[in-house]
Amino acid sequence: MGFEYAPAPESRSIVDIKPSYGLFVNGEFVDGHGKSFKTISPATEEVLAEVAEADESDVDAAVKAARRAYEKVWGPMPGRERAKYLYRIARIIQERSRELAVLESLDNGKPIKESRDVDVPTVAAHFFYYAGWADKLEYAGRGADPRPLGVAGQVIPWNFPLLMLAWKIAPALACGNTVVLKPAETTPLTALLFAEICQQADLPPGVVNIVTGAGATGQALVGHAGVDKVAFTGSTEVGKAIARAVAGTDKKVTLELGGKAANVVFDDAPLDQAVEGIVNGIFFNQGHVCCAGSRLLVQESVADELLAKLKRRMSTLRVGDPLDKNTDIGAINSAEQLAKIRDLSEIGESEGAGRWSPACDLPTTGFWFPPTLFTGVSQAHRIAREEIFGPVLSVLTFRTPSEAVEKANNTPYGLSAGVWTEKGSRILSMANQLRAGVVWANTFNKFDPTSPFGGFKESGYGREGGRHGLEAYLK
Ligand code: NAD
Repeated sequence: MGFEYAPAPESRSIVDIKPSYGLFVNGEFVDGHGKSFKTISPATEEVLAEVAEADESDVDAAVKAARRAYEKVWGPMPGRERAKYLYRIARIIQERSRELAVLESLDNGKPIKESRDVDVPTVAAHFFYYAGWADKLEYAGRGADPRPLGVAGQVIPWNFPLLMLAWKIAPALACGNTVVLKPAETTPLTALLFAEICQQADLPPGVVNIVTGAGATGQALVGHAGVDKVAFTGSTEVGKAIARAVAGTDKKVTLELGGKAANVVFDDAPLDQAVEGIVNGIFFNQGHVCCAGSRLLVQESVADELLAKLKRRMSTLRVGDPLDKNTDIGAINSAEQLAKIRDLSEIGESEGAGRWSPACDLPTTGFWFPPTLFTGVSQAHRIAREEIFGPVLSVLTFRTPSEAVEKANNTPYGLSAGVWTEKGSRILSMANQLRAGVVWANTFNKFDPTSPFGGFKESGYGREGGRHGLEAYLK
């Protein structure tokens, strides 16, 4: 049904992946004391590099370097001087954007058209945006002379490795804090390239430190007594563990956790546009998106028509090589994540929902899952309640707006939601009633550094982005 496309692979020769990487501490790459680990391409299972694991002593060295830099250089530096570094970093990100995009797609599995057109430009925009704030902090809503918190310990997930790094590092540095950041264990490479960018920008040593490793490294970082602020993005389960770990200390915490967003389509919505929004909502980044529109709530009277259009559109999605510029859906990030998506999809079938995927040839090596939708889903089904974090859409129907609100809010999460309707008044009324940090109207998955992002309920607390994003890094 779809068009045949000739292969259009982006060349990977632009990135120079080293055989092994150390930790970035105090402006230099150093060996770690833990057992090093391999990072692979999820599309081919090829080993990309060996990466150092930071143990407690390495985390301690990084936190101490960050403390020294905070006290001696970065904290006392005037905001307009800090801004210059942030601008410089933003410009270098733009200059090296192709390299960053290729590396991100290799290590993460996401399609190059997304890393190139969404992730990396949004990363640069974040640094530009917060560079602009660095000398205007008296307007941040925290008094005439707001002070930084000190050393931030930041832990991020694998779904948007570089973008999550930017969301964490840019506001922290703009406010005068220094950071120790731990990328996810399956996607450390762009954070390490970012460390090189910090060197290239002549950022003073210790202002940014990158420690690689898995959960134990993250635990050592958030538990370190020298950390003043913990910022975490990841699963609700680990978020809860972190909240417990810092309880009783005077560390400030922000948590950006999971989601199970409702994308609500009313009968007066422009259906073709809604189909594009639904596809973008759940198949963007293989559905590895905390704010993914993973629950489609469609008004009963248009459900059949919408589903027919949606299936037709899904049949045109191209799944395959992340570096191919025509690819819409890349590889699942890891074998573990693939197993989780498969398990929950099987549970969906066994609980009685109807499973459908378009015919598509999946590569034989690497981790792949076809775009999938489930119809006949009830609110009790696990695929309607749990975050699948994959290209799997659960479709439910409703008759009245109040039923839509009730179903949309029937979740422990509250990160995002979408509303599709022609009526402005209905958009406003829905936005008021939906318990979600972001509500998109007639669009989905739009990210902008000026706009705050964050959750209700088990999706976490605190906001990132915009002026609100500064509050998390100021006294
Ligand atoms: P995860 O919670 O397993 O891991 C996230 C990070 O925490 C990784 O770097 C991991 O090494 C580290 N970690 C694991 N255990 C730890 C511990 N005990 N202490 C400290 N650090 C620890 O999540 P994931 O699988 O990498 O990411 C997927 C999750 O992230 C999804 O639930 C998704 O919704 C969520 N997410 C949320 C947002 C948001 O802004 N709300 C954005 C992206 C992803």
